[in-house]
Amino acid sequence: MTEPALDERFEDPTTKPYWDGARAQRLLLQQCLRCGNFQLYPRPFCLQCGAGDLEWVEAAGSGRVYSKTTVHLRTVEHLDPPYVVALVELTEGPRILTNIAGSVPVSIGDRVRVAWRHRPAGPPVPVFEPLPPEPTQR
Ligand SMILES: [Zn+2]
Repeated sequence: MTEPALDERFEDPTTKPYWDGARAQRLLLQQCLRCGNFQLYPRPFCLQCGAGDLEWVEAAGSGRVYSKTTVHLRTVEHLDPPYVVALVELTEGPRILTNIAGSVPVSIGDRVRVAWRHRPAGPPVPVFEPLPPEPTQR
């Protein structure tokens, strides 16, 4: 018996809408219909109030680098080091563990927007690319 592909192990009725969105390069979040909380990764209930009434909404695709580190050792076959692993805080609030695309240096607090990395198999995954700094107010 062959081992299921990674995505087959993680795609279930709760996560399927997320992966369907990823296939269309749309970053989807769950939003609670009772309290309005946004959450990611997908769960069958709201983390804030426990309600089971959740809907899927498309994220703005923007956020800020909440934390980051640079990986210098090869740990994944199709990722060439060095690359940046980041925790991005989305505009809606949830944080997503991701990569920063390309080799542009980023700092904590930098603005980023979603891009998509295609893989040899499975749906594309959301990565983020830096945005220019906001103009300062005078
Ligand atoms: Zn809720």
